[in-house]
Amino acid sequence: MERWGEVNNYLNVIQIGKELTLSGQMVILLHEILEAINYRLELGLEHSKLCILSEVLHQVLRDNKLSF
Ligand SMILES: [Zn+2]
Repeated sequence: MERWGEVNNYLNVIQIGKELTLSGQMVILLHEILEAINYRLELGLEHSKLCILSEVLHQVLRDNKLSF
């Protein structure tokens, strides 16, 4: 895998690089989920905003020791 993560919107599959730390995998997973939502709901969010959203969400989950 060239990138750390990718979403296939046709197969509904998200792939995450196993070389990442667990924390890194969670950030990428959140990011790819947001990418999929952005695509499916045609939200038209810029990629830079998706990056901010995934980082913020990860911080809230991590700082509150929430898992999903
Ligand atoms: Zn992305």
